[in-house]
Amino acid sequence: MPGTDFVLDELQRIGSLDQRRFLKTMGQVNAREVNYQGRRLVNFSSNDYLGLASHPRVKTAAQAAIEEFHASAGSSRLICGSLAIHERLESRLARFKQKEAALVFSSGYVANLGIIAALVGQGDQIFSDALNHASIIDGCRLSRARVFVYRHRDLNHLEDLIREAPAARRRLLVSDAVFSMDGDVADLPGLAGLASAHDCLLMLDEAHATGVLGSTGSGIVEHFVEQGSFVPGKHGIDVAMGTLSKALGSFGGFVACSASLREFLINKTRSFIFATALPPSAAGAALESLELLSDEPFRRKSLWKNFGALKSRLNESDFDVTAAETPILPLTFGSEASALQMSERLAERGYFVPAIRPPSVPKGTSRLRITLCATHSNEEVEGLAKELSGLAQDSG
Ligand code: PMP
Repeated sequence: MPGTDFVLDELQRIGSLDQRRFLKTMGQVNAREVNYQGRRLVNFSSNDYLGLASHPRVKTAAQAAIEEFHASAGSSRLICGSLAIHERLESRLARFKQKEAALVFSSGYVANLGIIAALVGQGDQIFSDALNHASIIDGCRLSRARVFVYRHRDLNHLEDLIREAPAARRRLLVSDAVFSMDGDVADLPGLAGLASAHDCLLMLDEAHATGVLGSTGSGIVEHFVEQGSFVPGKHGIDVAMGTLSKALGSFGGFVACSASLREFLINKTRSFIFATALPPSAAGAALESLELLSDEPFRRKSLWKNFGALKSRLNESDFDVTAAETPILPLTFGSEASALQMSERLAERGYFVPAIRPPSVPKGTSRLRITLCATHSNEEVEGLAKELSGLAQDSG
């Protein structure tokens, strides 16, 4: 094919760096296990933290939504795709997040992309954590605002950058709530204090906090309020973004915010205006999952019990997981090749734990990213810890 030599060249180049990726076709997947190449492996890679994607009530709700509203919304929300089930979901999300309003998007990725580009533009400034998710980074780029990247969770660096920045029309401070590849939690009280002191809009991405943090799973605000270190309403989150696709076991993104900001976003967010509305089945599933958060609190308890058990077993085996605060446990091996090799060895022993490599993580920090879920048994968690400790001894 003329003119496409670059395709093979690039594939070869990333292959030589152990950064080439391949799709793994799974026979079946749930939060607890995958069927890969005819073998059952215990799944330590899913973001379906509470196991709700396969919950019978969630599946029935998705089917009922299809019966009532059909398989597709048929157009964008502003044409004829704004359905009663979207409005119901948004009211429920607003209540869940204790905000005036909420708005759903076709995915978490397009929510971040569109919201950031709607809120700020040329002549504005964004202050962004160095380890923010790719969808935030892409939203920052798309906005054409000036982006100041502060060192990961370093609020002194952030404050210096804000103080040194020239005057701007509008400023946005944006951070993951739970960092997706490291499992640590953003310092909400610190961020909110700085945002308020320097007149920045505060946006947090609660993709991995929703359903996970706080005693009802409401997210990062509930988490810090319960720790006694945050007073809501004083300096709150202006833009609480999240996804339906992780602990809520469905698909789609959302933002919880003031009623006026919702209206602004409906009018200004290109990824909302020009995209087909969320499928009814996804909305129905998410609505049922939100009910299950309160109907089945044992799921969140079990998730945190599994996290505590694995973290302490790994600490005993000399893995440094002290920074991990949520059910995402990174084990950093440095090179792409060693992370891949560990992942393959674990698969041989019956555990599916993916190797995460650049560009998902910075160069030199390739890792295994272990995610726990509520439905893992004690034996599965203990089994993984034992295998990891044995593999580390072999390679150490
Ligand atoms: N933000 C974060 C922090 C994420 O981890 C992800 C998903 N990996 C997204 C946004 C995108 O969400 P979605 O998968 O719903 O598009």
